[in-house]
Amino acid sequence: MFDEQEDKVLFDRANLLKSEYVIRASGIVRKRENPNPNIPTGYYEVLVRDMEVLNESAPLPIQIIKQTEDSEEIRLKYRYLDLRRERMKNNIIMRNRINFEIRRFLNERGFIDIETPFLTKSTPEGARDFLVPSRINPGRFYALPQSPQIFKQLLMVAGFEKYFQIVKCFRDEDLRADRQPEFTQLDIEMSFVDENDIYELIDNLFFSILKNVYNIEITIPIPRMKYDEAMSRFGSDRPDLRFGMELNDITGIVKKFEPKDFIAEGIENGDVVYALVSPLSEKITRKYLDNLTIRAKDAGCRLFSWGKVQNGGISGPFKKLFGRDGIQTDIAGDNQAIIYSCMGELRTVQSFLGEIRLEIGKILDLAPKDRLNFIWITDFPLFEWSEDENKIVSVHHPFTSPKEDILNVEGDDVYRIKSRSYDLVLNGVELGGGSIRIHRADVQEKVFSILGLTKEEIDEKFGFLLEAFKYGAPPHGGIAFGLDRMVMMFQGEDSIREVIPFPKTASGICPLTGAPDEVSERQLDELGIKLKNN
Ligand code: ASP
Repeated sequence: MFDEQEDKVLFDRANLLKSEYVIRASGIVRKRENPNPNIPTGYYEVLVRDMEVLNESAPLPIQIIKQTEDSEEIRLKYRYLDLRRERMKNNIIMRNRINFEIRRFLNERGFIDIETPFLTKSTPEGARDFLVPSRINPGRFYALPQSPQIFKQLLMVAGFEKYFQIVKCFRDEDLRADRQPEFTQLDIEMSFVDENDIYELIDNLFFSILKNVYNIEITIPIPRMKYDEAMSRFGSDRPDLRFGMELNDITGIVKKFEPKDFIAEGIENGDVVYALVSPLSEKITRKYLDNLTIRAKDAGCRLFSWGKVQNGGISGPFKKLFGRDGIQTDIAGDNQAIIYSCMGELRTVQSFLGEIRLEIGKILDLAPKDRLNFIWITDFPLFEWSEDENKIVSVHHPFTSPKEDILNVEGDDVYRIKSRSYDLVLNGVELGGGSIRIHRADVQEKVFSILGLTKEEIDEKFGFLLEAFKYGAPPHGGIAFGLDRMVMMFQGEDSIREVIPFPKTASGICPLTGAPDEVSERQLDELGIKLKNN
């Protein structure tokens, strides 16, 4: 507060101050004559007697106090200004508090924080590697770790038993909304454990974070659900349990109501019919419903139809296909409702309706924003066929232990094997996942060979790990969480970029520094690299 009567010269100088000037001021602290209870400093003021301008500020490219909608490009270009905003600052401060609580909790339980290398060899987590050329070993490259997976397992072989690290990981993925090429993981590994030890540790870790940082008490143990059940009830391996609207297998009902020949044949050949039932609402438009039919086809489903159940009758395409008298009551009971039904291969149908369930949940605003619904998803398949890569891949990663003996399993039977892996899901978002690991060289070799690696490739890529397993490797298991995502969820943000101080845009660019950048001819020469299209 500058008082014109007290000091006219100082008052005039103060009038020249602009937004974000840095000043040093001294004066007398006093009660305000007209207190403002709406601001934290509303009861007191400083009557300034002396003031020095330490630095001026150019006109601001983005407003700091006023809420404005700035483009992401501008926000990231001037991130240091964006971070001055209250909300952003708070996110970063809360991130530190969460980190601190994690460290406190794990230290108390005897975990030790151990650093693992960034310049290393490929770690298979399903993405591409970022490569770093080695100048002093021409023609050779380091890979930045996609996760510390192999090193944390080696630390178990080394006898550390309880490891953790809050660590940067690097994954070169194609443009995907809300992914960052570098992100932070909370990485954990333990020896002589089974799944229950992991659940107990993590349940308590999340209890502590939410209690000590947010004063929220969650109920533990966190419930568990097997992958197959999650798929058949929610059509997703990361179900959002904040609302019901579960999928129903109506294959039996359809059969009972004597379906048309081609439907009966489909079922005969192994197709299933699933249905989702939502309340009637004007928000679900005819256009949306008709569009679902096209989308279902694109998703690989054989038949999709919707029908409106009103006053006991049914209308819409469903009526023509399945509408024998009374079928709607078997599916939707006595409710006024919309039935969405889908026929085809089990997982395709489940996944499609799972997607629609989430969409309709959003349209009808079914998920309460302030609810935290945690769930463990367990018993994933060990392998799956990847259409994109046209080969068999690990659902988690190749170090995951099978649930049963795998040494004698051959052919398509491998798809039936479940793994000892688990994901922790919060409100439909996967917070993290892990597994009990393979600790025997013969089992690990078998998994690699199922994944199509030759003996030479196994040796070249993972020989050092298999060798380590020969020297008394203890049984072990662990888990890792996406810390950015965790903070985002707890802070109620929609994007991980809101909780990372200096993130990249969705296309992997840093508008602040201009990275990634071109490098000089000399640097390339030193590395022995020649660009193709230069
Ligand atoms: N390395 C795994 C991942 O990054 C986590 C784990 O299995 O512990 O997803």
